[in-house]
Amino acid sequence: MLNFAVGPVMIEREILKIGSEQIPYFRTDEFSSLLLENQELLLDLVGAPLFSRVIFLTGSGTAAMEAAVLNTLTDKDKVLVVNGGTFGKRFKEICDVYQLESEELRLNHFEPLTEKHLEPFDSQGFTALLVNVHETSTGVLYDMNLIKRFCEKNGLFLIVDAISSFLADPYDMADYGVNVTILSSQKALALPPGMSYVVVDQEAQARIMDKKVNSLYFKFQDYLRDGIRGQTPYTPAVSNLIQLNRRLKMIESRGLSNVIKDVALMATDFRCKIADLPLKVATTSPSNALTAVIPTCNIDAYNIFTFLKDEYGIFVVPSGGELRSKMFRVGHIGAISLEDNLTLVEALRAMSLKGLL
Ligand SMILES: *Cc1c(COP(=O)(O)O)cnc(C)c1O
Repeated sequence: MLNFAVGPVMIEREILKIGSEQIPYFRTDEFSSLLLENQELLLDLVGAPLFSRVIFLTGSGTAAMEAAVLNTLTDKDKVLVVNGGTFGKRFKEICDVYQLESEELRLNHFEPLTEKHLEPFDSQGFTALLVNVHETSTGVLYDMNLIKRFCEKNGLFLIVDAISSFLADPYDMADYGVNVTILSSQKALALPPGMSYVVVDQEAQARIMDKKVNSLYFKFQDYLRDGIRGQTPYTPAVSNLIQLNRRLKMIESRGLSNVIKDVALMATDFRCKIADLPLKVATTSPSNALTAVIPTCNIDAYNIFTFLKDEYGIFVVPSGGELRSKMFRVGHIGAISLEDNLTLVEALRAMSLKGLL
């Protein structure tokens, strides 16, 4: 099997092996030390400001998106949501579930965010902004410097879902003035799915301590309290946290900038290799994590996904909704190599020769 999904992705042998081992009891000093070390390493990789903390939440990325909104925003907030696809829409749905006052900045598919899009929302009484820095449904990476300037000018509390961008594109939480950064295990961290990590700065922690939430499992106050001694209120995905520790150390020894460069090289290599095929890169501002590909021939994009899966055992990512027959996506994260890129492109080339592409 060869998996070019954006998550779950191909996992290193060394990490897979940890998943096959027995799970230790976790209310111990040893496990607490591991969790505190995970926190330090994550804070460093994300460029978190001083005194930031990490909330280790057992749940997929959406759980963390929902919990972050629930714990830091109140009915006093007026929220702006950048919606350029499925994940932006999800943030809006979460705001609606909790009956927060919110408005959407709607972008067309594949459209980069510009100054002009933000203008109508300037000085309109907004207090918070929600954005997925890489909108994974379309492969578009937003300009964080633009968002930073807008949020600084308007004094906005900034929540960034960096799940599919972390370790693939440069990101600096302190420099961008981000209050909450949401990460998850199954994207470029290349771990099994199941855990999310919510990085909260001091202002976010103050918001969490001030808010009374109607939830037990997702009450961040308890996570902050227990996190001081390296514990979580409820049983976490213990193996996943041990795997995280190993991965973070691997990333640390390779160096963050090299890790990002490796992903960027995978992306550039793939985009060059498909240049002479009837395929076009869908956006002018792609994340390194992913290429959204539009067939320029008359072939249904969903059938390309199915054919690659059934005939070659290769997974790319199909699209849903109105993009289903128009576009598929190829991930560049996880334990994949330039050779794997070649395997995929040769399969595409063979399909092209057969008139299937
Ligand atoms: C993958 C992803 C998530 C998490 O989705 P889950 O299915 O809940 O894990 C959230 N946001 C973005 C931008 C993602 O790419």
